[in-house]
Amino acid sequence: MKNLAILGATGSIGDSTLSVCRDNAHLYNVTLLLASKSVDKMLSLCLEFTPRYVAMSCSAATKELAKKLNKENCSSQVIQSEEELLQLLSSTEIDAVMVAIVGGAGLKTTLTAVKAGKEIFLANKESLVMSGQLFIDAVKKSGAKLWPVDSEHNAIYQALSPKLQNTLGHCELTSQGVSKILLTGSGGPFLNTSLSDFANITPKQAVKHPNWSMGQKISIDSATMMNKGLEYIEARWLFNASREQLQVIIHPQSVIHSMVQYIDGSVIAQMGNPDMRIPIAHVMGGGERIESKAGNFDFFSAPEFTFSAPDYQRYPCLKLAIDACYHGQHATTALNASNEVAVDAFLKGQIQFTQIAQLVERVLQQTSTQPIHSIEQLLELDKQAKVSTLEIMRRDILC
Ligand code: NAD
Ligand code: MG
Repeated sequence: MKNLAILGATGSIGDSTLSVCRDNAHLYNVTLLLASKSVDKMLSLCLEFTPRYVAMSCSAATKELAKKLNKENCSSQVIQSEEELLQLLSSTEIDAVMVAIVGGAGLKTTLTAVKAGKEIFLANKESLVMSGQLFIDAVKKSGAKLWPVDSEHNAIYQALSPKLQNTLGHCELTSQGVSKILLTGSGGPFLNTSLSDFANITPKQAVKHPNWSMGQKISIDSATMMNKGLEYIEARWLFNASREQLQVIIHPQSVIHSMVQYIDGSVIAQMGNPDMRIPIAHVMGGGERIESKAGNFDFFSAPEFTFSAPDYQRYPCLKLAIDACYHGQHATTALNASNEVAVDAFLKGQIQFTQIAQLVERVLQQTSTQPIHSIEQLLELDKQAKVSTLEIMRRDILC
């Protein structure tokens, strides 16, 4: 039995992870649950799983949860500070960590678990996008075992040889005959919407993904295809891929989760229903196949599979992310930070859908080119980019 920590336990990935835990109770002890402020949901999870430890990043939520747990006579111990949480994550009490916090807020906890050499189930792509080389260096130094949870990266991982799987971050794709990584994406809910209607897209329309059920931020990122852009950067780091080795393909049915093309012309794809319990069960099984309850894909009632190249006029965020990937760490960190602020503003009805890309582009234009050597520098740049996004919004958009 492994002791599992779930960071972001009350979200969409948290739900899917706990579903896999329910079906494989002989493999994992749910030892630590962390979330932000959904106290009632966390309370019900504690009553069901009785984790040894529980933590909320919001201090008011921490107090409220402690009171409610006490009333229910639940034995889960409430972590009182970030320091205590980071210590626990580094300790021998935790073997594996599902990193499912949304956004850059996940960076510190993720890096702590990486540095402690834990088994890392990585769903939180933003932390890798932000910290890139620093993250990969930390994995190599600590010997942490990295498992990609994002469905595309998990599909790619499954299509690679064990030699590449065991050297994520610094693998040599060409040494194993890989010619290209084909990153598929559905194109989101606006694949066929007229461009002239884009400015009027509402948050309610944008969060409605045609195939996947996900948290709000990643749903908006999927609609702009910033999600595929972040995934492109994620793939660049995980698979040590060059520009020539990475290609994005639109596949609206979301059945092929990504593919690897080899020099002999073979293409290996991983397929299945669009259900995150599949990649989660894959990583939690340590590569062995375990129950996921996601069901089998029915080929006889399958729609036709179609493929096309992305249109950057429709998806300017995808282009911004791919360009940022080759400008360097300062650019990917600023891109991620400004996107977080812009998506939040869009969800609050403060900016139009099309202004997400415009804001990110303007922040990137004014971000100074600077090599990043430390997490402190990175966090400072993240803060500056968020402030710049808000300033541009206040000055030129919100009036
Ligand atoms: P979500 O919004 O549904 O859940 C986010 C979770 O993070 C919640 O439990 C929330 O309480 C917690 N959280 C937020 N801020 C926190 C903080 N500062 N400290 C601690 N916990 C905090 O998001 P999601 O859809 O589950 O996505 C989580 C991550 O997984 C994202 O990085 C996303 O890109 C990635 N991902 C999600 C999916 C999916 O299908 N949902 C697929 C692939 C990758
Ligand atoms: Mg994905």
